[in-house]
Amino acid sequence: MNKRVYLDYSATTPMKQEVLDAMMPYFNVSFGNPSSIYTYGRESKGAIDKARDIIAKSLNSSPDEIFFTAGGSESDNWAVKGIAYANRSKGKHIITTNVEHHAVLHTCEYLEKEGYEVTYLSVDEYGLISIDQLKAAIRPDTILITIMFANNEIGTIQPIKEIGQIARNNNVYFHTDAVQAYGNMKIDVNELGIDLMSVSAHKLYGPKGTGALYIKKGVKIHQLIHGGGQEKRRRAGTENVPGIVGFAKAVQLAHENLEDHIKHITSLRDKLITGLKEKIQYLKLNGHPTKRLPGNVNYSIEFVEGESLLLSLDMVGIACSSGSACTSGSLDPSHVLMAIGLTHEVAHGSLRLTVGDFTSEEDIDYVIEKLPPIVEKLRQMSPLYEKVKGGN
Ligand SMILES: *Cc1c(COP(=O)(O)O)cnc(C)c1O
Repeated sequence: MNKRVYLDYSATTPMKQEVLDAMMPYFNVSFGNPSSIYTYGRESKGAIDKARDIIAKSLNSSPDEIFFTAGGSESDNWAVKGIAYANRSKGKHIITTNVEHHAVLHTCEYLEKEGYEVTYLSVDEYGLISIDQLKAAIRPDTILITIMFANNEIGTIQPIKEIGQIARNNNVYFHTDAVQAYGNMKIDVNELGIDLMSVSAHKLYGPKGTGALYIKKGVKIHQLIHGGGQEKRRRAGTENVPGIVGFAKAVQLAHENLEDHIKHITSLRDKLITGLKEKIQYLKLNGHPTKRLPGNVNYSIEFVEGESLLLSLDMVGIACSSGSACTSGSLDPSHVLMAIGLTHEVAHGSLRLTVGDFTSEEDIDYVIEKLPPIVEKLRQMSPLYEKVKGGN
């Protein structure tokens, strides 16, 4: 009766025990301010240096290119506003997509009010941008291309290396929001031609409220948080030492076990995709069939409403999410589902199930057992479904 299955790893992940253990001493034993010169301070400072090394190594970057922030949203804001403000003498044009996370989208909309021009590239039915459209969008006054690595709703992975190449050829900065990709695939910032990259700890089994921005050496960027001289005078504020230590531990674990992690969640994802497809009619898999995050399942379930699904699933202990209007906090369904061309009705019935390290085969079996009767029951209340069935 008390079974609980968590399938919302793209929203946040539980911290690993090793991560928690690594963090603990920095709350009350080695609690010094890293800026203090006595031993307490030096212990904290040393822990941050070590964390920076680990994170830099995981990306094939150097430690002085890693800047700690309070999470993915701050990193996105810093990258987009920081580049916009520092390079406005060159131009005020930014290129992004209409499927970005709101931390990028709303920042771009804010900059538009300040006189910047933003091109929002559209995506195809799988959520992929067009390289030709990107090339055509570049202008002499373009200063930044910001395109996410992998989408948080439908899991689609963009052609990052090609985008990096185009940015380089045109002398335009390239920022990518890699919050969903980090820890779920190999990322080498040099090989991919990335100038700035946002990552967040709580999406890869680390603590909430901690993230980082990778800033390639030589990139011209303004700072957002003014105050003390932390983070090489580019991001003020006493460092979140336990958070940073936990973040690095999570990254280290992710880096060491990447192959196994990908294998594990890919097989669970595919089991879920196949299992549901076999038992439920009128399903549409959103996102790309192969260029997709290893843990992401996003189905539109026709003739049902996302919020009713979530509530019914919650009653049997299953936690997942939906792109329906009620859950997106507005009258419209998710902008990502609209961008891939779904109708309002189909988007309202979307369900995102994201698996992770602690998901088991039994969890997947449980969902494949519980979801189909819930869908059937909800569909019985849909006049549209009755009509479709009657027509068969
Ligand atoms: C979660 C998420 C963010 C925001 O990160 P926070 O650390 O929660 O601020 C940004 N972009 C993407 C793609 C995300 O999934």
